[in-house]
Amino acid sequence: MDDRIALIEAGGTKFIVGVGDASRQIHARTRIDTTRPEETIPAAIDWLRQQGSDYSAVGIASFGPLDLDPASPSWGHITRTTKPHWSNADVAGPFGRALGCPVAIDTDVNGAALAEWSWGAGQGTNASLYLTIGTGVGGGAVVGGRLIHGVSHPEMGHIRMPRHPADGDFAGICPFHGDCLEGLASGPAIQARWGASLSELPSDHIGHQIIAWYLAQAAATFQAILEPARIILGGGVMGTPGLLDHVRAEAATASGGYFAGVAEEIVVSPALGDNAGLLGALALTRIDGNLHRVPDMRA
Ligand code: ZN
Repeated sequence: MDDRIALIEAGGTKFIVGVGDASRQIHARTRIDTTRPEETIPAAIDWLRQQGSDYSAVGIASFGPLDLDPASPSWGHITRTTKPHWSNADVAGPFGRALGCPVAIDTDVNGAALAEWSWGAGQGTNASLYLTIGTGVGGGAVVGGRLIHGVSHPEMGHIRMPRHPADGDFAGICPFHGDCLEGLASGPAIQARWGASLSELPSDHIGHQIIAWYLAQAAATFQAILEPARIILGGGVMGTPGLLDHVRAEAATASGGYFAGVAEEIVVSPALGDNAGLLGALALTRIDGNLHRVPDMRA
């Protein structure tokens, strides 16, 4: 194998670590529990070294928030997180120094957005947006082959929402905003209201209508801002049978006819399967200018 690329999907509960190549093959992968940075990151590095030493690049798709300013001394660090031990953790640096090659890092959701645009449900479009609805809600968008960043990565899960008429009593669970999109439509928000996941609720339970309605409002909002050709809805909540069709039906109404196309073509499921996270890490290494040398701390 030539051009071996170290791949890390850094999640809040587990790190998936793999070895891939430019032809999108994943040759090996393992899972490491996310405990503390000083345990989890060295364990991931040890495993990668056991697979070989000749890496050309490292791709990291990480939970966030992340400092993604290459000029910042804390580039590649997690910034302020509610996850214990991980605030200000340097994620990119240890991998870059240990493996001696440049690092591309972005959020896990941006990695997924880029992978879906490159090889999945957004392939062939000029612009696609990926939204994951699971333990949290996050989104990333690709326009013209590049991920959208402002001064940092987007926080699409925290857009403010209109309230469903039958859901006015629920305060929402986002620690920052209460009833933002994540606060209303994430898996924990569903559990907080109804004590079960959406899949566990009867199909005629109003929870299905309420969550579909929120996701449709979000889709209409993102459509108005960006007009993506695809809005790709992934994450555990979207595994609920019938939910995608329900969102599509509501989105047509929510957009008031402003969708540039039919909802069935725009609002779609992800196309990449089990390796989506690692493919996201791989996709990040393929963007021009995205690979950075980590400063050597011994210098
Ligand atoms: Zn929020």
